[in-house]
Amino acid sequence: MNADENHVRVRPDLKWQRAEWGTNDVWIAKDPFANEYFYLSHRERSLLMLADGKRSLSEITQRCKTLYAPEDVSPESLVDFFAEALRSGLLIASESVGDKDERGLAYEKHGSTHHATPAASSPRRWWHQLLAIRLPGVSVDRQIDRLMPLVRTILSLPVRLAAVIFTFIMALASMMYFDQIAKHLDTVTHQPVTDWGVPLIAVIFVLKVLHEIAHAVTCKWFGAECRQIGVMLLFGMPVLYCDVSDAWLLKQRWKRIMVSSAGMMAELFVAAVAMLMWLLLGDSLLRDLCVTVMFVGSVSTVVFNGNPLLRYDGYYILADWVGVPNLARQASVSVQTWLRRMIWNDALSDARVESASRFGSRISPVRLRMYWTASLLYRGLVYATLGMWVYRKADQVELGAIIAISLLLVLMLGVVPWLRVVLSPPPSRRRNRSELLRRPPAIGAIAALVIATLLWTPLPHQIKAPMTIRVAESQPIVATTAGRIVDGIPEGSVVKQGDIIAKLTNPDLMLTIAEDQTKLNALQTELASLQSVRPATRQILDRIAVVSESIEANQHQLQLLVSQASQLEIVAPAPGVVFPAVHRVQNVGHARELRTWDRTPLTMRNRGAWIEAGTRLGTLGTAGQYDAIALVRQQDLRYVREGQSVSLMLNHVSPGAFRGKVVEVASSSTDGIPDELVSKRMVMPVGRGNGPSDAYYQVRVRLHPSNQPLAMRSTGYAKIDVPWTSLWNRWSTTLRDAF
Ligand SMILES: [Zn+2]
Repeated sequence: MNADENHVRVRPDLKWQRAEWGTNDVWIAKDPFANEYFYLSHRERSLLMLADGKRSLSEITQRCKTLYAPEDVSPESLVDFFAEALRSGLLIASESVGDKDERGLAYEKHGSTHHATPAASSPRRWWHQLLAIRLPGVSVDRQIDRLMPLVRTILSLPVRLAAVIFTFIMALASMMYFDQIAKHLDTVTHQPVTDWGVPLIAVIFVLKVLHEIAHAVTCKWFGAECRQIGVMLLFGMPVLYCDVSDAWLLKQRWKRIMVSSAGMMAELFVAAVAMLMWLLLGDSLLRDLCVTVMFVGSVSTVVFNGNPLLRYDGYYILADWVGVPNLARQASVSVQTWLRRMIWNDALSDARVESASRFGSRISPVRLRMYWTASLLYRGLVYATLGMWVYRKADQVELGAIIAISLLLVLMLGVVPWLRVVLSPPPSRRRNRSELLRRPPAIGAIAALVIATLLWTPLPHQIKAPMTIRVAESQPIVATTAGRIVDGIPEGSVVKQGDIIAKLTNPDLMLTIAEDQTKLNALQTELASLQSVRPATRQILDRIAVVSESIEANQHQLQLLVSQASQLEIVAPAPGVVFPAVHRVQNVGHARELRTWDRTPLTMRNRGAWIEAGTRLGTLGTAGQYDAIALVRQQDLRYVREGQSVSLMLNHVSPGAFRGKVVEVASSSTDGIPDELVSKRMVMPVGRGNGPSDAYYQVRVRLHPSNQPLAMRSTGYAKIDVPWTSLWNRWSTTLRDAF
């Protein structure tokens, strides 16, 4: 180690500030250049001050030994302390000093106190930046300065008290109206997003801006500086942040707690105002917004911002309250120490433990471990929910596997360094060769175990299949006699059995009937007169036979025509709803004399149009009962069973509005692919594909009855919830199909 020859000194540009921390006072060193904060005890500061540039590290260590009794400070911890001080930039030297062993920074670098960790300085922590990317913000210090006289005038003590009392009363009121609020929230959230999405986002944005301004103003109020307000991408979602890191230089603890809680207090106050408006307003969009603001400003704020288990406002309030500035790190080190003692019968190196807990905190190790466990479980829940949501979205576009692996990699990047601290053998055993040789196989085994777990863990799986809507249990309404349509009921009408659905006229048919009737009448008159002739000659008898035969033939013919004519009136064979027939677009140029129908036969525009015999006028089905015909590809079919639940994705309909159950799974592939799916290019017509994997199987989904009308043959996608499947299962079959 050539460190001994180097002269070191404390960085002269550090700003020092004494502050209250729990029962102790600490020194806070601010690095104005990197905007980082370091926490030191009195003794540590006096140790650092020994580095005046005239002494080398070994001389300083010697001097410490004479200053402090050996039982107070061990030589190893002194070396560690100075090495860390050099690495973190508190000390500077002409040459780089210190062996780069893989120990974490001894100091909690407390950058921004709010909503963000400081830009990570260590390259090992680059993935933190992926999860929380901080975009450059705007400096608002001068604007806030200008605002302060006004704020101080408005927020006089009586006003502040009144606001607190008002918020409290409204909180009580919200408990009294709890049921109504919950019901209203439920209806609001079930409205289509298009109706209220934009005002909602605007309102939440304003609320969050107020939150940040409240932090900034409070910080300024107590005399500290607010650096900037900006946007941060947290898991890709834009979140506002306010850099009030200077608040850590505030001496009194209660002031720092006030700065941390100001954002939540502002939101609670806005929620109280929204509550008052909610009580006064009648049903309107504004009232819907009020109930949403109440929810976002109270419940979600307290759960996310106020939760000390996440690293938001609540965490800093708690850390300040118990007087442990690096609570999260101290809890983590406490758990690592505990685990190491169990695994290696060895504690962590003194320096680590000392650096984590050197402020004489009043928190017991048991409580630290409890905090760590609760925080881990809660964060795990939040991340798992978020991860599952992302995974499901990605799985719909066949990217589920990639996302699952990426999420797991990110998780491992966070977990592995932490575990390495726990699992690395203590220095006394590190020299043991057999111990060292055993490590690579052990690491390999752990890696294999992790990969295997990943591959064999069942993950939720949905199959997405193109589908088209049909009327459940329907029968066709067909015109059996040709005619001009003169009357009809509107499509969608509810009919009883025997109700007239449409009336056609056919003048030719009527004319033929009239002519035939006349002919029949004439024949019957002739027959009567022939029968009255006495005596009947042979000639007359012959004639009677001919006429009788003719009458019979005519009567038969007439009956046929009359029955045809009666079918010009089309009646409902059963009760139900009249659904429109298939749309047809007629080339008008071809219709010269007979006006033919266009689109669907029953629409008003087709009155007077000619309907050929055998034309389908519509479908008679049960109201609100629809089937979806989904086309499932062969490789997905093995997951689909009767009884699985399905949700539909249709254009202009909010997802999840229509749900159903699989009632029938075809046993052989289908040739008849509905035209609407082919014409919209949702399905390739059979025969044009290049293999058996292009075969489609019809799956019939019975939709749950719904009041919302659905158009026949409207298309979309059915998402079938199939049993959870592991990635291994899915990949292995895909590979088997491919080769
Ligand atoms: Zn906040």
